[in-house]
Amino acid sequence: MDQTCKYHPLETSTYYCPDCETNCCDHCVDDSRYNPVPRCFQCNHELEASGPGNIEPFWRRLQQSFKYPLATQSLVFILGLSVLCSIALYLPFALVIYLALFGSGFKYCLSCLSHTADGYMTPPEITEAYVGGFKKMLVLILMVFITSTVTYAVDKYLGAALGGVVALLVTLSFPAIIINYAISDNMFESLSPANILNLMNSIGLPYGLILAFILIMSGSIAVVYQLVAWVPSSLDSVFLYAVTFYYLIVLHHLMGYMVFQYQSALGYSARLQGESNKRRGSHQIAMAKISALIKEGEFNAANIIFKEQVSLNNDQLALNMQYFDYLLATRNADELATFVPNYFLQLEKQGRSDLISRSYKRLLHKLPDFELIDPALKLLISQASFDQNDAKTVIKLLHGIHKKHPEFTAMIPALTLLIDALGEFPQYNKHAQAYRKMIHRMNKVDSNQ
Ligand SMILES: [Zn+2]
Ligand SMILES: [Zn+2]
Repeated sequence: MDQTCKYHPLETSTYYCPDCETNCCDHCVDDSRYNPVPRCFQCNHELEASGPGNIEPFWRRLQQSFKYPLATQSLVFILGLSVLCSIALYLPFALVIYLALFGSGFKYCLSCLSHTADGYMTPPEITEAYVGGFKKMLVLILMVFITSTVTYAVDKYLGAALGGVVALLVTLSFPAIIINYAISDNMFESLSPANILNLMNSIGLPYGLILAFILIMSGSIAVVYQLVAWVPSSLDSVFLYAVTFYYLIVLHHLMGYMVFQYQSALGYSARLQGESNKRRGSHQIAMAKISALIKEGEFNAANIIFKEQVSLNNDQLALNMQYFDYLLATRNADELATFVPNYFLQLEKQGRSDLISRSYKRLLHKLPDFELIDPALKLLISQASFDQNDAKTVIKLLHGIHKKHPEFTAMIPALTLLIDALGEFPQYNKHAQAYRKMIHRMNKVDSNQ
């Protein structure tokens, strides 16, 4: 059974930390571009890849596989190559040209195979077919030559029965030989019976599906050839070549996908590439690390990274709100004392004063003894609270402010707001009156100066 991520119990784990003895998913590892091998969030040691997670088996992807060659780059390649192959017959040195053209086709097919095995589900660029195609073609011919010679020799010297068996084995092995060749790029390694057996053994029965597939494909190509024979036209050969190359690309893509699917058994490691797993930025990795640390109960370590992320992305309101929630949840009074002033200023700056009053209430609910030191902050919260019809908080914050902060520069606006708040309660009429007189005196002093 597959292991699951320690922090995401519904996710199949893709990495294992031998030091912490934990399994985690792609999300819960430090895969920043400075780490060639992803590292553990807890101990920072390099992790062991434990496979690509859930991979759809290739027999469920037949529909997508037949659409695979329909991408622009491979369509252009198929059509271009088919036209060239049709013309080549009329050129001098036709055989050499054919070898080179088929070589490019074969080279491109091999690239499709290894590209898919690496997790890319779209065809490679055409440039993959330019260089080295001729050599690959010669290798392919050589491989066919070697295997037929062996078959012929067995047939001649050991009898027809054994010869038949060897011929059958060679036919069965050919997909394995091609797969090994696409991955190792070494003719002798791909022809080695040990490697062939190893590949078949790792894949198991589904290997037979690929063989069945090759049979069906050659069958349908034969049908197309017959159809063309019935309806002859000058575009015949182009069409025939195009269909053949199309099938060959689908087939190599399927073989590559087989390697991708059975990668752990084949000692190969790849991930599904594409839009969905673009490299994460350092911020996203840090946030994933925070989440893992919190789940481990390592609140101080999480707080250090969280604080750093907030100061790096100070204008990100959602992040600030998240950090505020985190500090409230962990009742971190010390951090709140330094964070809250910045946070509330940020809320005001971004036009979310409505959140100030609510956040302050939540803060007091969690930490009833929380005290504000800065009179400007008290005024900011009071104003926001008054706008939310919360006169009580205004009175609590501003009552006696002239004694606590005699030097406060915005005293008159603060007292004016306090008077407005007191006006909501008839029983505080006297206090309001007193503050009015105070403002009056202050104005007088000001005008006398
Ligand atoms: Zn996870
Ligand atoms: Zn670890």
